[in-house]
Amino acid sequence: MAGLYGVIGDPISHSMSPLMHNAAFEKLGIEGSYHPFHVRKENLENAIRGVKALGIKGMNVTIPHKTAVMEYLDQIDPLAEKIGAVNTIVNDEGTLTGYNTDGLGFIKGLKEFAQESIEMKRVLIIGAGGAAKAIYYSLAEQGISKIDICNRTKEKAELLKTRRSSFVQTEVLSLDSVQTNLGLYDIIIQTTSIGMNPKIGEKPLNVAMIKENAIVSDIIYNPLETSLLKQAKELGARTQNGLDMFVYQGALSFEKWTGRNPDINTMKEIVLTQLGGQHVNR
Ligand code: NAP
Repeated sequence: MAGLYGVIGDPISHSMSPLMHNAAFEKLGIEGSYHPFHVRKENLENAIRGVKALGIKGMNVTIPHKTAVMEYLDQIDPLAEKIGAVNTIVNDEGTLTGYNTDGLGFIKGLKEFAQESIEMKRVLIIGAGGAAKAIYYSLAEQGISKIDICNRTKEKAELLKTRRSSFVQTEVLSLDSVQTNLGLYDIIIQTTSIGMNPKIGEKPLNVAMIKENAIVSDIIYNPLETSLLKQAKELGARTQNGLDMFVYQGALSFEKWTGRNPDINTMKEIVLTQLGGQHVNR
């Protein structure tokens, strides 16, 4: 019998996960099928009961359920616990375990793009929402010791910092004050929703002062090149969009469900085609 998989969120119709995972199953010749499920918050608990009752083997969880879902699971992986959010559920014979592959997916993509060691780099994260949390704690787990955060709501960034591992040095900055200090950073990671389709002309900040050759990574992938990435590229930075993160977080989920490595290129190509674009990383 084909294994059943899916993603729950609200909204969910825009999700490219079904396309990506179904392509990965087909490429490996695995009998699996992955579906989007529109689940409102009042139905979340029942939806998770349904995962058990129906024997759904694996789920992704997206906005707005990544934190709320944790109380309905049997076990939470330590990294997901630290992040405070789950994007992947594995159903092992009726025991549901929650994981977070967002941060590690981001790091996999970043390392592949950077083609050099990132451990000694000075990093700035723009944003302090769910994705920023996953990236911040996962970077810290990798031994990166200087990670600053700037966010519109400074208190949220402060909260992130208070839960950090002791060896990570973090300064919390405002979006305004960081603009003149951008030259300090080797890697700048944009995690806010600013610049996402349809508001493609917007940027969370002006990156005129970045270091030449800095890596600027924007986790948005629609559009494939945000205004922020465009400006950074014109200034000589190496720019990466959010497609790598999206594909690698999905690949890590897929591995947890099936024990198999999916074909990354197949996954990337099908999403790129759907977005109607070219890969802009360089
Ligand atoms: P979230 O938890 O809602 O966080 C949103 C972040 O954006 C917060 O830092 C928020 O600042 C900031 N923000 C929103 N509107 C703003 C505005 N007008 N001005 C200044 N800051 C603003 O969302 P999330 O889950 O972290 O997702 C953030 C983005 O990452 C989305 O575009 C999402 O699609 C993308 N994402 C991509 C991947 C991938 O695989 N590539 C994975 C996850 C998420 P405040 O704290 O001040 O509200």
